[in-house]
Amino acid sequence: MDPRTDVVVIGAGPAGLAAAHHLAAGGLAVTVLEAAPRVGGRMATERVDGFLLDRLGRPLTAWAGLPGAQDAQAVPLRPFAPGVAVHSDGRRHRVGAPRAPRGARGARGALTAVRALAGAPLAPLPPRPAALDQARLGAALGRLAATPLDRLLARQERTAREAYASPLARLLLSALLYDPALLSSSRSADLALRAFARGRLCVPEGGSFALPRLLAATLPPGCALHTGVWVTDASIDRVTTKEHGEIACRALVVATGARAAAELLPGLRVPEFQPVTVLHHSAPEAPAADAALLLDADRGGPVAHTAVMSAVDPARAPHGRTLVSSTVLGPPPPDARVRAHLARMYGVPTHDWDLLAVHHDPEAVPRTRPPHDPHRPVRLLAGLYVCGDHRDSATVEGALHSGRRAARAVLADLGARRAPDAGTAAAAAQAPPRESAA
Ligand SMILES: Cc1cc2nc3c(=O)[nH]c(=O)nc-3n(C[C@H](O)[C@H](O)[C@H](O)COP(=O)(O)OP(=O)(O)OC[C@H]3O[C@@H](n4cnc5c(N)ncnc54)[C@H](O)[C@@H]3O)c2cc1C
Repeated sequence: MDPRTDVVVIGAGPAGLAAAHHLAAGGLAVTVLEAAPRVGGRMATERVDGFLLDRLGRPLTAWAGLPGAQDAQAVPLRPFAPGVAVHSDGRRHRVGAPRAPRGARGARGALTAVRALAGAPLAPLPPRPAALDQARLGAALGRLAATPLDRLLARQERTAREAYASPLARLLLSALLYDPALLSSSRSADLALRAFARGRLCVPEGGSFALPRLLAATLPPGCALHTGVWVTDASIDRVTTKEHGEIACRALVVATGARAAAELLPGLRVPEFQPVTVLHHSAPEAPAADAALLLDADRGGPVAHTAVMSAVDPARAPHGRTLVSSTVLGPPPPDARVRAHLARMYGVPTHDWDLLAVHHDPEAVPRTRPPHDPHRPVRLLAGLYVCGDHRDSATVEGALHSGRRAARAVLADLGARRAPDAGTAAAAAQAPPRESAA
C-alpha cells in the first residue's frame, strides 16, 4: 500500500465510492480504505441456499431525477408494480399509482396538493381505504410530481405527522421514511412523496450490492481500493490503520456512517437511528400477489411492508422458488408472529414457509427529525471532509449525493480540476441506463 496519496477516503459504502469516483475523475490520487472484507457498507446482499438476500428492507425509489442518480444509472433496475398494494380488512387494494403530471401546474397547484393531503380527517384508517382518500392521494401525488424542488424545500417545516393527516399518505410515508411514528421532518416526507410520485419503486437487479459493486469495479485509474483495512485514527494529513501503519495525505474524506465518523472525529453529532429488521422467507408456492410492495392498513402485526421479491426480480431466487422479503421497523419479533401477520396480508397459509435469514440493524437509517437540513455541510476544514447518508437525505441517493458534494469541496480546496457532472459509473462502464421489464 502506497504510504502517500492525495486523498484518503475512509469507507467504501455508496458515499465513499461516489466521492472516490469524482476525486479520481478530477485527477487526484485516491486511496479508499474499507474495514470490511467487501465494499458496499449497509448495501449488502448475501447468498443463502441460492437466494440473494438484501439487508436493505425496502425498495429504493426510482433513481432517475434524484440527486446521486448519475452514479446509479448503469445498474439494471427491477421495478415494482406501480403504486403500492394496501391490505385492509382481508382484501388488497392498489393505491398511489403515480399519474403523469398534467401540464405545468406551478407552485400553486403543488401547494394545493399538499394541503389536500394535510386537510384529510385525522381519523384512524377505515376498514378499507376510503375512495376519497385514495383519490386524494392519487391526485396529490400527481401534483407533487410537478412541484419544483426549491418550492418544496421552501415550505414550512414540521413533523411528517403534522404535515400529512390523510391515513393513506401516512401509511405510505411510514414505509418510505422508515418511520412508524412519522416524527421525521416534513421536508423528508415531501421529498419522499415527490420521488415516489415521479418514479417507480425499484430494486437493483440481483441485489442491492449491485450498485456498490459497479461503483467499485469502475473506479478510474489513480484510485486504489483496499478492503479489510481498519482506520483507527484520522487527521487532516494522515490516517493510521490497524493493518498497514500510517498513510500520509493532502486531504481526508470520512465516509464511514455517522457513529464511526464521530469516533474518528470527536465532536461530530451522532443522530438518532431507526432500527430495522428484514426477514426473508422462501415459500413453496408464490402467493397470489403481483410485484407490488404490500402495506398493511390494518396494522395487524409487526410487518410494516412486504413483497414477493422473486416476482419483482426473478434473479433473487432459484428457478421455481419464491422469495418473500418483509420489513419490521424495530427489533426482531418472533418468527411465528411475522408468519401469522404475513398469512393475513397475503391470504395464504405460511406455516410451510422457510425462514432464510433475519437481518437486524439497530442503526439502519439516521432519523431526520425537524429541523432537518438535507444538505448538511460536508467540509469541516480545508483538508477535512465528511460525507454519508447522515449529511444528506438518509437514503442511498443521499449518500451518493453527499459523496459528490464532498469531492467537489476537496477539488476546489486543492485547486484540482472539477470532475465532470456526468455519470461516473455509467460513463466508466459505458453501459446505457436501462430498466428491466417487470
Ligand atoms: C436494514 C436496512 C435497510 C435500509 N433500507 C434502505 C432503503 O430501502 N433505501 C435507502 O435509500 N436506504 C436504505 N438503507 C440505508 C442505506 O443502506 C444507507 O443510507 C447507505 O448505505 C449509506 O451509505 P454510506 O456510504 O453513507 O454508509 P455505509 O453504507 O454505512 O458505508 C460506510 C462504510 O464505512 C466503513 N467503515 C466504517 N468505519 C470504518 C473504519 N474505521 N475504517 C474503514 N472503514 C470503515 C464501513 O465498513 C462501511 O462499509 C437501509 C439500511 C439498512 C441497514
